[in-house]
Amino acid sequence: MRPFLFVTDLHGHRGKYERTLSYARQSGAVLVINGGDICPSGHRHGDQKRFYEEFLGPHLARYQEAGIRYLTLTGNDDLGVFDALLDEICAGMPLVAHLSQRMVEVDGVPFIGMNRVTDFPFRLKDRARKDSAGHVFGNQFGRSVLSTPDGFREIPDWPEFAGTLPTIEQELEALPVPPDPSRAVYVLHGPPSGAGLDTIRGGLPVGSAATRAFLARVQPLLSLHGHIHESPEESGVWKTKIGRTVCIQPGQSAEELVVVVGNLEELSFQRKLLSVG
Ligand SMILES: [Zn+2]
Repeated sequence: MRPFLFVTDLHGHRGKYERTLSYARQSGAVLVINGGDICPSGHRHGDQKRFYEEFLGPHLARYQEAGIRYLTLTGNDDLGVFDALLDEICAGMPLVAHLSQRMVEVDGVPFIGMNRVTDFPFRLKDRARKDSAGHVFGNQFGRSVLSTPDGFREIPDWPEFAGTLPTIEQELEALPVPPDPSRAVYVLHGPPSGAGLDTIRGGLPVGSAATRAFLARVQPLLSLHGHIHESPEESGVWKTKIGRTVCIQPGQSAEELVVVVGNLEELSFQRKLLSVG
């Protein structure tokens, strides 16, 4: 397999999308994986809808034309109400797929994605879940909401409501099961705990113990994560191992594009910072 690229947390930054495409062409990548948080930040319906229709649709068509596979997750900052729109965009392009909660095979390698994340203090809860049954909720900044077609619906008692949803542990169990897990690649927006991939500004780890336990048990070839942009800068770690599984969380930079160039046969990975025009 020729190289693939992994990018995550592009947050609607068009220059970073363009740079990813030009670098994919330049490096002869056969596949680009986008780890989620694809839309402009700010949770505005109009901004995200326009981003999908005016930018991402035509942009992904250029991958289709170039013969480069593209797998994308959504993330916790992408409004869940537009997931169907992303599916619609991808449906017309055989080389492009929305990977959230799905398995897609590329050159015999199964890729399995998940956009759900362990609960965080922020308002938009479309993707938020208790990590496991004994989850302890942190302080919340502002009122909890879910996206709807007409705006947001407030959740008066978030911990109670979250108790009615599957936990991250259960969401991981419910994912499609690859025929041979040791050859599979998991793309999970939230990072595992205890591996240095989950460190927020100030040094606090916020990763998912359920994700760590899942990776330790299933032992896929590779897991790719995002979500905590500053983690590699804070912990000094962007790549590590849980048992035999290589785990990567490259973070994302404000000024430059962070991209990982990977080769699955050699199991070699390079993290690069590319300037963005
Ligand atoms: Zn993000």
